[in-house]
Order: sequence, then structure tokens, then C-alpha cells
Amino acid sequence: MSRSISRWLGCACVTATIGCLSSHAAVTTASPTVRVRFVAHGDSFKAAASEYERLWAAEGARIVQAMERVSGLRFVSSNYADTAIVAQVLERASNSGYRDTPMELRASYPFDTRRATLIHELGHRLQAGLFRREEEEHGPLFLWIYDVWVELYGREFADAQVTVERRRGGRYPAAWDAAMALNAAERSTRWKALLAERSPTRR
Ligand SMILES: [Zn+2]
Repeated sequence: MSRSISRWLGCACVTATIGCLSSHAAVTTASPTVRVRFVAHGDSFKAAASEYERLWAAEGARIVQAMERVSGLRFVSSNYADTAIVAQVLERASNSGYRDTPMELRASYPFDTRRATLIHELGHRLQAGLFRREEEEHGPLFLWIYDVWVELYGREFADAQVTVERRRGGRYPAAWDAAMALNAAERSTRWKALLAERSPTRR
């Protein structure tokens, strides 16, 4: 794992394990525009991978539509289509991966946190073209994923998942404090201003 790639991964995971995909069971599901292949990182995570698979099969299309609508970004952009994502399911902090580097998703999350975290990590990938590798991008991410969570699952769900993410510590509490200090219109305005001032740097 090169440093440049590991730096680019969202969230708390330090390293992504790649190169072991062929030896583990894989399941593939599809939404109209984004396929996510959930790969159990060993037999003990097969059940969790299957549950992620069912989640994506049932809700993936809605998730993609809501994320694209709220963010104004597209998984298929002019020079890259992030539409064939591998997500390893294992027991460690989740991270987004980037392009061909797999996403990693914690196996033990409760169902709602699986939903929220999958959207969080997909959000990193969706907005990746706006940021340089060294930039901390949770502040911008939280300007729009809360509103995706609300649109899909309601405010009670969204608030509960903010609480879950705050408990993780690190960069999350301050970034969520900043986003939650704004109302939905203010978050949208700030996000659109950020979109307007940045041309894609990586796509
Ligand atoms: Zn993150």
C-alpha cells in the first residue's frame, strides 16, 4: 500500500488490505448506476457481507439518487466512472477506498449504522475530485450527507447517526459540530459555494 493511497483513504483506517479478494467469497449487487461488490474478508464475515448485499440490493438505487441529488455530483463524471466498487467487509474502522482501492466496511455495525456508514464512505468517493490528497474533507462531507440521511431515512435516523459518529472521536466531533451549527439551507449554500470555487482536481 503506497503512502499516497493510504493518505487518500477517508476515515480512520490506516491501511487497506488489497490483493486478497480472489480468495474470499464475493457477492455482487447492482443499482442502476453503481455496482458494489461486497467481499467477506474471511468466512466469519460472510453473513455480514450478505447483509450489506441485501441492503444495497434493496436501497442502493435510492441511495445513489439521493446522494447525487443532494450533492450535485455524479458517480459517472466526465473522466471517471466510480460505478464498480469493491467493498471488503471485515472488523476494523471503515474507509472509503478510492477508485480501484477497495472500500472497507466494519462487519459488526448495527443495521442503521451500516446504512449511514455506507453513505458516508460513498460520499468520500463522490466528492473525491474536489479535494487534494492531504485535505481534511469531513467538514465538506458533513455539509451534505446529513441531508441525504434525512431524505432517505428521516431526521431521527440522521441525528442518531451523528451521535454514533461523534462517539468515534478524532476528526468527527468538530466536523459534525460545524455542520450542525448550520440549518439545511445554510449547509446547502455553503456546499454549493465550495462546489463553485473548486474545479475537479482529480477527475
Ligand atoms: Zn470519513
